[in-house]
Amino acid sequence: MKCENSCTCSPLYTGTVTLQLSSRVVNKCKELDVPLVGFASADRWDDPLFDPWIPEQFRPRSIYPQTNTVIVIGIPVTLPALETSPSLWYHELYKTVNTLLDTAAYRISIMLNELGHNSIALPRDGYGSIHVLKENPVAFFSHRHAAFLAGLGNFGVNNMILTAEYGPRVRFTSIFSEAGISGGTIIQTPICTRCMRCVTICPVNALQKEDYPDGLINKERCTARSEELSKRYISPCGFCIKVCPVGEDRKRFHRERPGIYDETNQEYANYHKAWDHVRSYGGKP
Ligand code: SF4
Ligand code: SF4
Repeated sequence: MKCENSCTCSPLYTGTVTLQLSSRVVNKCKELDVPLVGFASADRWDDPLFDPWIPEQFRPRSIYPQTNTVIVIGIPVTLPALETSPSLWYHELYKTVNTLLDTAAYRISIMLNELGHNSIALPRDGYGSIHVLKENPVAFFSHRHAAFLAGLGNFGVNNMILTAEYGPRVRFTSIFSEAGISGGTIIQTPICTRCMRCVTICPVNALQKEDYPDGLINKERCTARSEELSKRYISPCGFCIKVCPVGEDRKRFHRERPGIYDETNQEYANYHKAWDHVRSYGGKP
């Protein structure tokens, strides 16, 4: 079968090229143990859905003009480890997830390049370090917005993307591809229950009660807290994502009752004792 797209792709990817390519990416993600993957046409960045919208210089085609599709992948952070935060355990898990994300995105881009569809993997963070972030508290590309536009979830009051599977306990990165792959359906119905647990637990009052984007996070306060924790190797904070009731992972780990995070609640004393134990090793909170 002859390729209809004037590209150098394998004959395997002709005809229903986008369907086969998306299946190929999905299968690659399975191979790499990446549970969440979505696709968004680069056109979606040019169609504002709320205000303030993504500035032009942060859109895929401003960064890589040949982009047709943004592939977004997500790897979860495991709830019981996150619950010990601030802790060395969550600090190390966060680093592991970041490394896996970077590796998976790179390997997916290599697969697509070998198939004749030029693609580049982005780093899951676009700022380098918490100290740099403090001076310039934005990344050059927002994977959260990419995840939203790829239909993986939508924004909660905590400014994170909430997913049905993991609530906000998932980290994302993206791949810019010249391949044209059909995008997922954007989820418009709010996933956030507006329980305000994230607002209440934030130790520096960085969150507001309004929905995203009206209740944008106070980045300076959040970053200052992360910087303090990073000096003791127990960053990031993660409080606003561990308490979020959304996500199937909460059921999986038997964590459906919110009282678990009230450390004066004796019903959960065994959990609190375990967290205290973990926190007493490595840098202290
Ligand atoms: S990460 Fe911590 S400091 Fe930042 S908004 Fe969430 S709870 Fe507040
Ligand atoms: S903790 Fe509650 S208010 Fe905050 S993002 Fe989750 S569901 Fe929304």
